[in-house]
Amino acid sequence: MKHPFLDLAAADAPLAGELAAAMTRVIRSGRYVGGEEVAAFEQALAQSCGAAHAVGVANGLDALRLILRGWIIQGKMMHGDEVIVPANTYVASVLAILDAGLRPVLAEPSWETMNLDTERLDQYLSERTRAVMTVHLYGRSCFDAALKRFAADNSLLIIEDNAQAIGATAPETGFGGSNCTGALGHAAAFSFYPTKNIGAIGDAGAVTTGDAELAAIVRALANYGSDRRYHNIYIGQNSRLDPVQAAVLNVKMRLLEAETARRRELARIYSGTITHKDILLPQHSANGGDVWHQYVVRTPRRDALQQHLAAAGIGTDIHYAVPPHRQPALEAMFADNAYPITERIAAQCLSLPIGGNTTVEAAAEIAAAVNAWCD
Ligand SMILES: *Cc1c(COP(=O)(O)O)cnc(C)c1O
Repeated sequence: MKHPFLDLAAADAPLAGELAAAMTRVIRSGRYVGGEEVAAFEQALAQSCGAAHAVGVANGLDALRLILRGWIIQGKMMHGDEVIVPANTYVASVLAILDAGLRPVLAEPSWETMNLDTERLDQYLSERTRAVMTVHLYGRSCFDAALKRFAADNSLLIIEDNAQAIGATAPETGFGGSNCTGALGHAAAFSFYPTKNIGAIGDAGAVTTGDAELAAIVRALANYGSDRRYHNIYIGQNSRLDPVQAAVLNVKMRLLEAETARRRELARIYSGTITHKDILLPQHSANGGDVWHQYVVRTPRRDALQQHLAAAGIGTDIHYAVPPHRQPALEAMFADNAYPITERIAAQCLSLPIGGNTTVEAAAEIAAAVNAWCD
């Protein structure tokens, strides 16, 4: 492949020396769990999005689960309560809800934004609805006046799945007074899986929230449920952020603005150059706040476009070909409902290269190859 979809080694090559030095600092410190790198990262993350508290955890799925478990401990919801979540999300969003003993209620997205259709959430309400999980899919924020009103009118909590949108901004100010994703709802989950906009050299995640009590509960839950040594107040788990990963993330967090600017530039090139009549381009948010975790085009002949690009030496990917309600582990649970918009997105979506190894020159070539598709 002349233009691989994502080449993490190539993307990280310019940072290799700095990352090695950061990991060496951890080895020299002898602090292999917790410690300064973790604390520094939590502080940097909270500051970057304007959240009051950040807690490093092992991965993004745990970040989501721990927030929901924390709300149950706080008495804000109980087992069997419902959480509205978009049907076209990565499976982890749904797994987190199930794992916490809650019921996911899948909501059809807007075809235009591919995010929750915030004007049409009433149909998913029941007596047991306690929260909305808004997923900022592909790096586009999903938090607006309609969602805020829906949550306020129905006394719902908002949990952000911010795995894909670190650094994005919404058109509305969140409950924490900032308009950055991660500080919009009552709590947010981050993933630093290697392919995300800020990626670790392995698994990592974090929770942000304005609620000091929730932050303390999540921190305890992720550390065997202990609030101090050998004192377990919850039935916890081990989901701490590894200090080696924190050291890597401290290097990468300093590059967040540059990484976001780079992705915005590539998206601008794609959107300004691709003119194929059979291809639908992704919408840009009016406030310019998108961080383009993925650049997702749609066409009814998606597989043919993917093959055309592969023949031209261009790697692409599909996010996601099989939505959660079609997964073997989950399909029986959702068999009574239809999600036609979600299915149409799954059938038509194709992600063009936009990761760390993709250059401006490559994006121009890729856009030209897309335009040359004769279907
Ligand atoms: C990556 C991702 C997750 C899960 O994060 P992990 O760190 O891989 O556990 C959750 N939700 C969405 C939308 C994601 O993209």
